[in-house]
Amino acid sequence: MRPETHLTAGLLVGTATGLAVGHPYIGMAAGAIGGILPDIDHPGTILYYIIGHRTLTHKVEFVLAASILLFMVGTIFNMPLAIGLSFMGGSLSHLLLDAPTRSGVTPFLLFPLHLSGPIKSRSIIINASLTVFFAYCTGKILGVL
Ligand SMILES: [Zn+2]
Repeated sequence: MRPETHLTAGLLVGTATGLAVGHPYIGMAAGAIGGILPDIDHPGTILYYIIGHRTLTHKVEFVLAASILLFMVGTIFNMPLAIGLSFMGGSLSHLLLDAPTRSGVTPFLLFPLHLSGPIKSRSIIINASLTVFFAYCTGKILGVL
């Protein structure tokens, strides 16, 4: 999926999670970061040349490790759930959105399950529709729409 789709999905999941624990805007920010972080291995980045695309950063284990780290960071600010859980939700939304694409994802390090589907990652229609939908839902949750 395109970055804006992952970003808005992370915003939505993070906002909902943050709202559930009393910090919707912190959750929104953490979810947004979580939503886009797995693509730090995107073609053109240094990490891509080292490990390839949709490898380590698109694993549930990576998401859990990063979420635990952010949970610990969140304890410093007395918001471990808003930061850690929202980040985890945003990152998992990334994996879920990449799963039905043609390249798909292999979400576990040690379990050879590969998920893929017919969706083109760069489809303008699908990405624009999802982006608008996720942004709209986020606005509704925050009460600004
Ligand atoms: Zn991705």
